[in-house]
Amino acid sequence: MKIAIASGKGGTGKTTVAVNLALSLENVQLFDCDVEEPNCHLFLGFDLEKVEDVNIPVPLVEKDKCDFCGKCSEFCQYHAIAVIPKDVLVFPALCHGCGGCTLVCPQEAISEENRSIGIIERNKDKTGGLVFYRGLLNIGEPMASPVIHALQKHIDENKAAIIDAPPGTACPVIASIGDMDYCILVTESTPFGFHDLKLAIDVVRILGIPFGVIINRSDIGDEKVEQYCLEEGIPVLMKIQNDRNIARLYSEGIPFVSRMPEWKERFVRMFEIIRSEINEEVMK
Ligand code: SF4
Ligand code: SF4
Repeated sequence: MKIAIASGKGGTGKTTVAVNLALSLENVQLFDCDVEEPNCHLFLGFDLEKVEDVNIPVPLVEKDKCDFCGKCSEFCQYHAIAVIPKDVLVFPALCHGCGGCTLVCPQEAISEENRSIGIIERNKDKTGGLVFYRGLLNIGEPMASPVIHALQKHIDENKAAIIDAPPGTACPVIASIGDMDYCILVTESTPFGFHDLKLAIDVVRILGIPFGVIINRSDIGDEKVEQYCLEEGIPVLMKIQNDRNIARLYSEGIPFVSRMPEWKERFVRMFEIIRSEINEEVMK
């Protein structure tokens, strides 16, 4: 069972929910897919070890075989390879590693070489049974999705997996949540939170993923988010009040379920509700 924690915008408490939910459950995996800025580890205190380099294949042109026909450049939708008189220029940072230019080259002048764009790490210490993985995109790299796909290959399908998705609704979010059984959308009851929640709802609806909403800092702002969910028949899975203790623990990097056990019970109950809904979907 794979559950993504996502949000239409940053700063809603998505990572807080992912970490506290994972720490409330037994025998679970947590994947930090916010590979441009992973921060789950700040609340977990784990020592991490590298398990994998993430590479993408980029073209390598043998110019003595090339007749500068331009077919590779015409094929590439990302403008990552250009043919000029008597030369072929490759722009590795734009290349998506699709391999198409290699296939269309009539002279077989293109081979591929690996370019590192990030790494996958996991926790060394499995105390408490939590398995934690994170992806880390190299600084300046534009493409997060290959790192996210490589990260999700480490999911053990026999265990529950919690996925901390990147914020927003762009490609890295689709890469993170596209294969999920359920998506929890974390929002706050402010005009910005409401606006970006509706964008995130559009995404999960298009992807056909069952979802529910957590309203964080639910007692600030207004009632529009909750009213909207009621009108749309969207389950509000949990409301987290603007609690001074939670804020203080957060600022100290301490997951609040570790000091406020009543929240652990709430997360477990929420998880059971989600599990039932997923099972119902499977039976349909
Ligand atoms: S398709 Fe092959 S032969 Fe044609 S320009 Fe590109 S590398 Fe050269
Ligand atoms: S591998 Fe794909 S993305 Fe990269 S240069 Fe070739 S056609 Fe373009």
